[in-house]
Amino acid sequence: MVKPFVPQLIYVEPKAMEYDLGKTLIDKFSKMGIEIRETTSHNQIRNLPGDNHFQRYRIAKSTLVVGIRKTLKFDTSKPSAEYAIPLATGCMGHCHYCYLQTTMGSKPYIRTYVNVDEIFEQAESYMKERAPEITRFEASCTSDIVGVDHLTHTLKRTIEFFGRSEHGKLRFVTKFAHVDHLLDADHQGQTRFRFSINDDYVIKYFEPGTSRLHERIEAAVKVAEAGYPLGFIVAPIYLHEGWEDGYHEMFEKLEAMLPGFAKKGLTFEMIQHRFTKPAKRVIQENYPMTKLELDEAKRKWKWGRYGIGKYVYQNEEQEDIKKTLGSYIDKYFPEAKIEYFT
Ligand code: SF4
Repeated sequence: MVKPFVPQLIYVEPKAMEYDLGKTLIDKFSKMGIEIRETTSHNQIRNLPGDNHFQRYRIAKSTLVVGIRKTLKFDTSKPSAEYAIPLATGCMGHCHYCYLQTTMGSKPYIRTYVNVDEIFEQAESYMKERAPEITRFEASCTSDIVGVDHLTHTLKRTIEFFGRSEHGKLRFVTKFAHVDHLLDADHQGQTRFRFSINDDYVIKYFEPGTSRLHERIEAAVKVAEAGYPLGFIVAPIYLHEGWEDGYHEMFEKLEAMLPGFAKKGLTFEMIQHRFTKPAKRVIQENYPMTKLELDEAKRKWKWGRYGIGKYVYQNEEQEDIKKTLGSYIDKYFPEAKIEYFT
């Protein structure tokens, strides 16, 4: 069982200490006996402990920077929401295929932002622009926010902020089961709590450092009991030998563990595995023994964000995935909604 994340090293930006949350967090981490270093900005972080790239990468992944979010322009977040709400960046997990491999590059430490009220003000202005239409915000575009939130509670505050809002909804996804502190948040049904799930093969070989499938489902049951709208993201859907059986077992297990009331209003999102050339380089550097298949010749090239092409499955394989997984969802969760396949 993966324990709740405890950072090995903390960096703090001086400006963060001008905020109550910054002071509270530093006080808390110093009481926990964690080494705290000062940095003018996260960009200035040098000299992480470790003798080689491999060690430094692993220490960076368990380093937490307490800072402020300077850019308050939110990214868009299609297809699951209109905007990405930035509460944290980076993740303590070690999923080989993770999209953060490329976006975080050589700085894979985790950053948590303490200027939460300014972030909320910005969210408010985006909601006003679109009102009376609902604006959806995704909180897990740049991190697995639940994985760090037991320490910071910024997600909890965000859930309550959207609980009070008239035109906004929140959603996020996690591979971590440490949800207890979120169960009593006053969410008012405005937050969709999603878990990322996968079959045993993918979790075993490619998702070290994250909660196992049964732990994620147990957490999902608690979340449903707390009245949150619930969803699952099957991602990345990865074609390995025996994938049809692997995913069948996953849905079977999910159906068996979820009580009836948790199956009402359930959503599924399906995302096939993809990679870019730059991501492939970083993955092979950080996880040299990975079994992840990254052969461009077997894939279909597709235009991606910022003009970086991505490699997805061939059309026939995509159809096969949609048909096969779609049939499992129909069989076990006939009332659930499949939001998209991408
Ligand atoms: Fe990346 Fe999510 Fe895995 Fe964290 S849990 S490493 S964000 S895929």
